[in-house]
Amino acid sequence: MKEKLSPAQRAEKTLAALKARYPQPATHLMAHNAWELLVATVLAAQCTDARVNTITPELFRRWPGPAELAEASQEELEDVIHSAGFYHSKAKNLLGAARRVRDVFGNVVPQTLEELITLPGVARKTANVVLFGAFGINVGLAVDTHVKRISHRLGLTRQTDPVAVERDLMALFPQEEWGDVNHRMVWFGRDVCHARGPRCDACEMLPFCARREPPKTGEGGREGRSGSRKTVSPKGKSANRGKNA
Ligand code: SF4
Repeated sequence: MKEKLSPAQRAEKTLAALKARYPQPATHLMAHNAWELLVATVLAAQCTDARVNTITPELFRRWPGPAELAEASQEELEDVIHSAGFYHSKAKNLLGAARRVRDVFGNVVPQTLEELITLPGVARKTANVVLFGAFGINVGLAVDTHVKRISHRLGLTRQTDPVAVERDLMALFPQEEWGDVNHRMVWFGRDVCHARGPRCDACEMLPFCARREPPKTGEGGREGRSGSRKTVSPKGKSANRGKNA
């Protein structure tokens, strides 16, 4: 027998279950500072963390920060990031972001969402990831393909636009939890609530899950679909505390 719950009650139970399953959520993406996290997050659109981790050591060896990358050529950068896919647009965005961080922000990654989304290739999702992952700032809740799918299935939202989904989730979860809700849902999406064939028989949320499939369109927003969540800890160290992908 399903429990009939309000979205707020569902969110409370969801948070408790996710916290129990993932006491220390984090990711496998290697990043040691805000700039590296920003670059890695841009590269990870429609690419796996594991693949990005094979690319970034060479990228940061050649161009350690925005000032160095700003001097790179499109061709050189494309050559290094080729295996990430969509390398032409990713290279163009990364060069544009590096030049803007250098020229407008004094080589320092800005710490506001409003400033971050002025960088090429950075919209709300990436900005939220960088703000929480690098600085511990919760101003939004990054909605990627996992977060959107799981939120629909659990009955936490009926919205299709990622910004509207984010607004619903921000209203349901305490602000201090937003960054980790994202991390935990990403892990949960990889481990249990798969896009195809969710393991409902192994899921502690089955008693209250609405099991409502999300609409097919609009997934991922303008930054594209990213099945990855990457972060460094708020203290700036690379984090790798969660379960395997
Ligand atoms: S019961 Fe199934 S659909 Fe619902 S959250 Fe668990 S795995 Fe996902």
